[in-house]
Amino acid sequence: MALWKSEHPDLDIPTNVTTWQWAFESREHSPVIYAPKDHGHYENAVSKERLSYAEVKEKATSIGTALVREHGFEVGDTVSLFASNTIWYPLALWATVRVGGRINGASPAYNTNEMSYALKVAKTKFLFTLPGSLDVATAAAQNVGIPKSNIFLLEGHAPGLLTIHDLIALGTQHPPVPSYTIPPNTTNKQICGYLNFSSGTTGLPKAVMLSHHNIIAQCHQLRQIQLLEPGEPYSILAVTPLFHITGLVRYIHYPIFMNGSSILLPSFTMPSMLDAILTYKIRELILVPPILIRIVRDPIVDTYLPALRRVVKRWSSGSAPTSPEIIHLLHAKFPDTGFRQGYGATESTACISAHPPDCYDYRHAHTAGKLVANTEGKVVDLEGTGRVLGVGETGEILARGPQIAMGYLGNEGATRETFDEDGFFHTGDVGHFDSQGLIHISDRIKEMIKVRGQQVAPAELEDVLLSHPLVEDCAVLGIPDDYSGEVPKGFVVLKEGVKPSRPVGLELLGFVEGRKVRYKRVREVEFVGSVPKSPTGKLLRRVLKERERDAGRVR
Ligand code: AMP
Repeated sequence: MALWKSEHPDLDIPTNVTTWQWAFESREHSPVIYAPKDHGHYENAVSKERLSYAEVKEKATSIGTALVREHGFEVGDTVSLFASNTIWYPLALWATVRVGGRINGASPAYNTNEMSYALKVAKTKFLFTLPGSLDVATAAAQNVGIPKSNIFLLEGHAPGLLTIHDLIALGTQHPPVPSYTIPPNTTNKQICGYLNFSSGTTGLPKAVMLSHHNIIAQCHQLRQIQLLEPGEPYSILAVTPLFHITGLVRYIHYPIFMNGSSILLPSFTMPSMLDAILTYKIRELILVPPILIRIVRDPIVDTYLPALRRVVKRWSSGSAPTSPEIIHLLHAKFPDTGFRQGYGATESTACISAHPPDCYDYRHAHTAGKLVANTEGKVVDLEGTGRVLGVGETGEILARGPQIAMGYLGNEGATRETFDEDGFFHTGDVGHFDSQGLIHISDRIKEMIKVRGQQVAPAELEDVLLSHPLVEDCAVLGIPDDYSGEVPKGFVVLKEGVKPSRPVGLELLGFVEGRKVRYKRVREVEFVGSVPKSPTGKLLRRVLKERERDAGRVR
């Protein structure tokens, strides 16, 4: 079989509503409408601050109205959220989406250069942030010409800045602006509501354009394979950041669709996560591999073990490969739980595949599950001939479905390379389908390095290394790391006359560390005579990777 189709019944996914209308105004889908007295909420796991979905609806209406009436917000404007997990984050998001804006999430760990780049790529007009990120936010906004009056605080106060609460108060002084509707002769597939960063197959981070349809489709796809015990209310613990695609879908949109609660952990520590699991009786944990590693290896878990075993029923992992050893240890520690993986990318609004309820166990845990509904997949050879492969044959995984993104903002070249004319997304991942339709991921041909589930674009690190006066040329690859999955390693050609030495290596590591957010730092430098290049001067990263693989140094 050359084309795999999802085995799940096709879903009818709405095409005429925005995510706001679907979540807050639709008789069929909005718990605020069909269960007005009994709907869920966003809650801060530490401070216990809570926003019910009805409050979100009311306050987001006021904020959106203030943005339009008092701040010149226009349909299609980008609003960036530069903050760690807080209940005010989804509120700002919903306010923006309600009035037809585009939401962009950026890592609160970014430094000024990284944030300036992000604001430029996402074409940001307005910015919501937290006091701890304000210096970077203000400097970056100034770099790209965003006036200070367009920066708002999600929490706390700062001289001369409006807070989200000020916007709520301002908005109530005007009649509510009507919610944005899909224009005539258009569907929600054509309207971009979200911009999430991904470096994709090659180069620097790009803003992935996600439509309202993409998000709604993914929520419908996930609900179809949701496992809940009879009477079990849906609740999720937001352990990973809201700005990542998993957070955007799983922690902000899906809980409303499930009429459940989303419990936000402001910053990750093992005790805060374990306490929250027990306090909120979280049955299903959606984690990334490094946190699963902590669950099986960190001795602190043992003090919580009996209680955890009573509460946790299901583990779920995604964003990066989970090692068989960790899966085995997890099963041994929690014998009565289920385990599943979700596989996908920012460009596929999270899941292309996941384990359906009948595969939600440890026998299938090493695979990436089966295609979610309305999704097709194929595997093409790695030689670039486009030859489509069959069962068990390994090549690049391609996927097509309603969750596949619209493209990259302002980057037609990368869009064409990644999303082909038949609608298939070229994942840059290597794997195969087995005879049961389970996907197995074995490698990555795209450049991207995944450090603790977070993307690192080698091109960014190469740019920094190349700006060092001692460096003639360089290449960066991901090398395996027990805890982080992968970490960046630099292969450096020094300028003529410069002798390779440990101090030079340390100087280069420090140089990158001073310019990049912590998780992107280069961990190791190897001095080489040259890096492989094509006749046109293009870095042949795959040749270098093969060389390292042959030497047993990369996977
Ligand atoms: P991101 O866009 O940050 O979600 O990164 C997407 C990439 O993460 C994919 O293209 C894969 O390389 C990797 N990835 C995501 N989920 C899995 C998984 N379950 N197993 C292996 N790799 C994964």
